Amino acid sequence: MEKHLQHPVFKILADIATFHNIEAYVIGGYVRDIFLERPSKDIDIVVLGNGIEFAELAGQALKSKVAVFKNFGTAMLKYKELELEFVGARKESYRSDSRKPIVENGTIQDDQLRRDFTINALAISLNKENYGALVDPFNGQIDLQNKLIRTPLNPEVTFSDDPLRILRAIRFASQLNFSIDEAALQAISKQKERISIVSKERVTDELNKIIRSPLPSIGFKYLFNTGLLHLIFPQMAALYGVEIINGKGHKDNFYHTLQVLDNICKVTDDLWLRWAAILHDIAKPPTKRFEDGHGWTFHGHEDKGARMVPQIFAQLKLPLNDKMKYVQKLVQLHLRPIVLAQEVVSDSAVRRLLFDAGEDIESLMMLCNADVTTKNEYKIKKYRNNFELVKQKLKDVEERDKIRNWQPPISGNDIMTIFGLSAGKEVGLIKNAIREAILEGEITNNYDEALAFMMKKADELGLNPSMP
Ligand code: ATP
Repeated sequence: MEKHLQHPVFKILADIATFHNIEAYVIGGYVRDIFLERPSKDIDIVVLGNGIEFAELAGQALKSKVAVFKNFGTAMLKYKELELEFVGARKESYRSDSRKPIVENGTIQDDQLRRDFTINALAISLNKENYGALVDPFNGQIDLQNKLIRTPLNPEVTFSDDPLRILRAIRFASQLNFSIDEAALQAISKQKERISIVSKERVTDELNKIIRSPLPSIGFKYLFNTGLLHLIFPQMAALYGVEIINGKGHKDNFYHTLQVLDNICKVTDDLWLRWAAILHDIAKPPTKRFEDGHGWTFHGHEDKGARMVPQIFAQLKLPLNDKMKYVQKLVQLHLRPIVLAQEVVSDSAVRRLLFDAGEDIESLMMLCNADVTTKNEYKIKKYRNNFELVKQKLKDVEERDKIRNWQPPISGNDIMTIFGLSAGKEVGLIKNAIREAILEGEITNNYDEALAFMMKKADELGLNPSMP
């Protein structure tokens, strides 16, 4: 392992350890990521004894300022591009009502035992007698090779002690494309209710990490199969299942949503566009109807879905800001390009879509492309071709009419000045009439045509300009 400790900082830390006769190890994510060939800049150092004192010594040697977190018994310093965190080796015991352990000093093995997973419990010695040796009492290296998430302790104990680890297990499986060991999985199913002692913010933090992984469906399938999704995000769990009436079924919207999510993850890293994929059909369960002669319908699921977005964001403690509005808009509009792609596309329909989607039109087109999950090759080809046509048409119309982020060529203020009106219904009527005329293509999007149109409209309303 010595070859992995190339950075000069490790020799400096080792010299301090030797000089002061303190045992020190590199531990946790940094060691795991060496094996996964994912270079990391966060280094955790565990020492037998006082982590803060060791950090102070390291701070002097490296000429770096040390930040001390007395309550946690940890200290941190930045050195060049690295962030080093120091802690004394611990033995932990838990009470049932809290994630906060009772902590005592321990051996390196005690410290490894309190870690969540074997792949996160690997350590490398910084000590003179075995510098660079891997310390792996729980076969974490083999689990890495077998792509397995396993706990050092009995998993029932690990997950019950700190139920956040349940989500961490699923999150690592999703990020790394690993499987969760069978016993651990059973323990998760059994202990899932304990997730209630984890704060909503932390749950959502892990959820977002799952969503940011290359194939989030891995994590969501674990969440669903263990029953955890029903607890933390019941609206999504409700998408699962197929109902059959008179021999007619509908697609399973849970697996469809996961497919759409995986699809969109291939073309974007944007967390919020990924959230839009998760939520696009969220209102299918509450809008589902069986209509004789038609079969299954989900009328209005885009409207209801958009209305559900703020409530879901609040429940999950996601930000209630412009990101939420963006997701809401995409859920609201997600059927529109598909409808366009099925019909002969009129310019006015394209203009209306551009007007409603504004600067989010590309995101919307990505979402709609990802939404095509049929297995029928012919249909896939047809939809994708039609989307290309819609995209081309969007481009043409935009170049010609500049509808994206449209600002009315005549403002409400202009209207009030010209007709000597105060703010009121008539101003709104005229503004709407101008906008409709532009979207319908009756007039082009410029001041002169809008002015001429407005005068005609005003005349119909019996209004006279107050200015010559
Ligand atoms: P990432 O940076 O991708 O989240 P990481 O493993 O470095 O991965 P951290 O949360 O920084 O994650 O944790 C550092 C180490 O601390 C872990 O590798 C693990 O050994 C230990 N650890 C973190 N959280 C827990 C926990 N809830 N229970 C037990 N050990 C944990």
